Amino acid sequence: MTEFLTDRERIIKLLLSAERPLDVYQIRDLAGLDLKPSEIYDELEHVARTLKRQGLRLEMIPARCRNCGYEFRDRERLKKPSKCPRCRSERIDPPKFYVRR
Ligand SMILES: [Zn+2]
Repeated sequence: MTEFLTDRERIIKLLLSAERPLDVYQIRDLAGLDLKPSEIYDELEHVARTLKRQGLRLEMIPARCRNCGYEFRDRERLKKPSKCPRCRSERIDPPKFYVRR
């Protein structure tokens, strides 16, 4: 017997049980999702709203440039940026997500 969950429900369940912040690649693998990273970022925006209705907050650890350490703090959208504005490096650590109760 398998429990049917939508992708969004799987992400929420995973984030609620995770012991550390997860990036979209970890979310994809751990929740067994057949989605592209860009689709997972879109789902996370809905997840944030769903959690908010439950009195929880989806928190994001900002993306960070691996070359110079620049942090992408003031981002409206959740997506991973493609380039560092300071050093132009494209080696960016993706943002990570966790739930605050
Ligand atoms: Zn940089």
